[in-house]
Amino acid sequence: MFWADQVISEIIKSGKYKPYHVDDMKTPSGRIHVGALRGVVVHGLLAQVLKEKEKKVKFTWVFNDMDPMDGFPHYLQAKFKKYMGWPLFKIPSPQPGYDSMAQCYAQQFIEVFEKLGFQPEIIWSSQWYQQGKFNEVIKEALDKKDQIRQLYKKVAGYNKSKNWYPLQVICPQCGKVGTTIVYDWDGKKVKFHCKPDLVSWAQGCDYKGEISPFDGQGKLMWKVDWPAHWKTMGVTVEWAGKDHMSEGGSYDLSSAICEKVFDYPKPYARLYEWFLARGGSKMSSSKCVGVSAQEISDTLPPEILRFLLVRPHHKKAIIFDPFQNETILDLFDEYDRFSQIYYTDPKNDFARVWQLSQIEEIPPQPIFLPRFRDVVNYVQLPSVDVEQKFIQIKGSSLNAAEKKELQKRIKYARIWLRTYAPEKSKIGQVRDEIKVELSAEQKKYLSLVLPLLEKKWSQPEELQQALFDLAKGNNLNPRDCFQAIYLTLTGEKHGPKAAWFLLEQDKKLLNKRFKEASK
Ligand SMILES: [Zn+2]
Repeated sequence: MFWADQVISEIIKSGKYKPYHVDDMKTPSGRIHVGALRGVVVHGLLAQVLKEKEKKVKFTWVFNDMDPMDGFPHYLQAKFKKYMGWPLFKIPSPQPGYDSMAQCYAQQFIEVFEKLGFQPEIIWSSQWYQQGKFNEVIKEALDKKDQIRQLYKKVAGYNKSKNWYPLQVICPQCGKVGTTIVYDWDGKKVKFHCKPDLVSWAQGCDYKGEISPFDGQGKLMWKVDWPAHWKTMGVTVEWAGKDHMSEGGSYDLSSAICEKVFDYPKPYARLYEWFLARGGSKMSSSKCVGVSAQEISDTLPPEILRFLLVRPHHKKAIIFDPFQNETILDLFDEYDRFSQIYYTDPKNDFARVWQLSQIEEIPPQPIFLPRFRDVVNYVQLPSVDVEQKFIQIKGSSLNAAEKKELQKRIKYARIWLRTYAPEKSKIGQVRDEIKVELSAEQKKYLSLVLPLLEKKWSQPEELQQALFDLAKGNNLNPRDCFQAIYLTLTGEKHGPKAAWFLLEQDKKLLNKRFKEASK
């Protein structure tokens, strides 16, 4: 059984967690990392599968925009340094068109998950704080701070001092929230100190004062804030990434506070593994860091990206390296294969994976899917009419849905070539005149290739294999042989899939060039 189906049947069988409310959250402190998409897809699927079973379900996404800015993204202008420690919803937007930094980064992320077909109700934490929705849990947390302190010690091994309180206020003098500590509470107001040396990333103004912790003037600390959201919102299903789920980690502590202090049952939780992607362009060449969700989603059709995330079990890490030669080409092939299974063997788990990867309505009959690898090759050949080519391959004309699919794949093939393709996948242009020095073996090979090209080839794959066999059969090094083809025509050492390239060239031209070069 597909993992999401398994989990949902467990939830339903338990009779608990009602009314069903699936939630996830994220702090919008910068361009949101691609890894956060795992949470989107996991929770999105849980909500979707619950709904399929005709269960009423609420699906929310919280942006923790009361959190302080506690790290400085490398792409941000230096003038934003002064906002370190401020709550994110109060910091101006680094790009025009948004109310705050939090909104700017959150909105970019929302666009990505909407493209993936998920539409949770968005909740801005700062608004709930300001509207007083958290007032009750804030009072509860302050009144029961000794109990919380003991749980910090018991569950996670933290030692907090006797006059510690799990709340930070926004300093009325300097505007920072990350620099304040609360040291007293009288039931109405808290006493606080904005400390110059509380954290290394921001400096407090040393102001001491008294303030009400309610209506958005204060914010609970993260491990108390998390269960405060569960209780206030009524969350019953919320999973967490591996980093939060270690023993004695933030999930353990938060759920203990949830049950023992807030007297609210902890949500149904499982862990989900990492989703890592190798970094964009030149800035991070080999490490799995820094790729934003938006960067990846700009380079893949949404259903393909969704497929990548739906398919693996939630406990399996996804390491995605789009720069590796075949990664994306293979991903498309897999997607197409699963599509076939959907229409021929609908009870199969793979069919379910494909079905749950769809964003638009699924056509009742399968449509012809032009193979992405072929699209990549054909779009590089100016002499080829790509649509005609696929009419030929399919053996009949393309219907509207198939034409649309082809146009989409053409678009993403161009993006792939621009963004990820290794040099050797790019087909060079045939140049008019080329002077190259070929070895005796290479010359021999070219003279043998000519008769091959005279034959009729219905599939480029067959010619590709024949070119390879020709080298092997004559005890020639295939790499040198293919190089001879490219060198003679384009002057470059590499080119992909020689067969596709050769079949599109003028035969006379090939004849002339290969004869000259093999002399
Ligand atoms: Zn201050």
